[in-house]
Amino acid sequence: MRAQGQVHGRRHPVVQEPPEGAVQEPLEGAVKEPPEGAAKVPHDEAMRSAKEAITAAQEAAQAARLRRAAKAAEHRAEYLAVLLSDPGDPRHGTDTGYSYGCRCDACAAAWRRKSTGYRRRLKAALDADPGDPRHGRLGYHFGCRCAVCVAANKANKAGKAARGAARPRGSHGEGGR
Ligand SMILES: [Zn+2]
Ligand SMILES: [Zn+2]
Repeated sequence: MRAQGQVHGRRHPVVQEPPEGAVQEPLEGAVKEPPEGAAKVPHDEAMRSAKEAITAAQEAAQAARLRRAAKAAEHRAEYLAVLLSDPGDPRHGTDTGYSYGCRCDACAAAWRRKSTGYRRRLKAALDADPGDPRHGRLGYHFGCRCAVCVAANKANKAGKAARGAARPRGSHGEGGR
């Protein structure tokens, strides 16, 4: 008998079924359908009322912002009116006076002092930290001439020239007031 090595005519199918016991039957109670009666409020309607609530809240917030802005503008106008009507007001000569719109010599000088102080502090911070994220166009603007700032300024100028060439010559935004 040639019991060993005997070739059968049919191939053994490769059984790919999971082993006994690994069959995943859905667990009792894990069914994903809503229980009876839970579908009484249509989903669309719930969504709509939620959206309406959000819109109402946004509108209220917007109205509040507008009211605050209007109040602030009113306050500024009153403040400025007081400053302008009284040259002896102690708030002249402060950057607050300038920020409220007074452009008298004292307020302008206070503003300049403040902004040069800011410039100095920023420049010092940039000098002290080459990794400061403000290196770049801003750094250049504030007087830093490190490689990063110079490169950013060059790129900015090149971009401006390219845009300027594509645009008819007109008013240029150079120079401050
Ligand atoms: Zn003033
Ligand atoms: Zn720099």
